Amino acid sequence: RAQVGDDVFGEDPTVNRLQDMAARLLGKEAALFVTSGTQGNLVAILSHCDRGDEYIVGQTGHSYYYEGGGAAALGSVSPQPLWYADDGTLDLDMVERVIKPADHHHARTRLFCLENTQDGRALPMEYLAEAAAFADHRGLATHLDGARMFNAAVKHRVDPRDIAGHFDSVSFCLSKGLGAPVGSVLAGSAGFIDRAHRWRKALGGGLRQAGVLAAAGIYALEHHIDRLAEDHANAEALADGLAALGLDVDFHPAQTNMVFVNLPEGSDVPLADHLRAYDIVVTAENPIRLVTHLDIDGHDIDHVLEVTADFFA
Ligand SMILES: *Cc1c(COP(=O)(O)O)cnc(C)c1O
Repeated sequence: RAQVGDDVFGEDPTVNRLQDMAARLLGKEAALFVTSGTQGNLVAILSHCDRGDEYIVGQTGHSYYYEGGGAAALGSVSPQPLWYADDGTLDLDMVERVIKPADHHHARTRLFCLENTQDGRALPMEYLAEAAAFADHRGLATHLDGARMFNAAVKHRVDPRDIAGHFDSVSFCLSKGLGAPVGSVLAGSAGFIDRAHRWRKALGGGLRQAGVLAAAGIYALEHHIDRLAEDHANAEALADGLAALGLDVDFHPAQTNMVFVNLPEGSDVPLADHLRAYDIVVTAENPIRLVTHLDIDGHDIDHVLEVTADFFA
């Protein structure tokens, strides 16, 4: 049940409420409801950068590797990818080295993008402060792909503002661990969100009675943030259980709701097929990834462990 209006004219009270709520939660001046995390990141890059600019991003970062090359294809903004360190950070000395001199030979290095969580790892809080100071010193704008930033906040037991405050703009997904069916939010300064609003329109993301979607987002923000700790505990129990089966489990100390398992060669697809027969879905690619969320409880973890043990037996 949602009160609705035409959001293309900014007249949907439920969308407006979600946007105000998200802005307050992240300590930003304004926020914008977007259709997906991909749209949020693309709108952010287009709003920070002009044609011929570049953004620094993780080699496997969602906003580069998993978004169809949108920034280059639609914005003429080129990526400068770098490999993530083991904790999901980008080494600032490496970042320094790829910033281009202000010279006609080069693209203008304009934006520094990070991801939190990165492959489920909550970035160290000290790093966020260092990265922000670095970007400020080098005159780079900053964007956080915070698809799962509330997992990071819960993991570190910090206010979400303490993470968002280090970035000029932040996007987060309502439709991942927070459990809403559709949507993401982009937040930043009022001027930034004004530019973002135009790009959202240009990308076809201006919706009309979107309050029916925003209402689910409001519910998610009101009820599903603190409970992310349960997902983290379930992921840890899953990691421990899989390791006890003798599997090579990769569970970083800053891990939140994802478990990665390096399988013996050739067993990824057969295991994924076996699990799927029990309605358990994992990515069939080595290392396999298992993700916990609000529909998974402790019994489900036991069940996954039993079925996995059967496969290896
Ligand atoms: C899921 C995700 C996104 C956005 O994905 P959509 O499928 O477009 O909603 C962005 N970044 C990260 C890190 C993600 O996991």
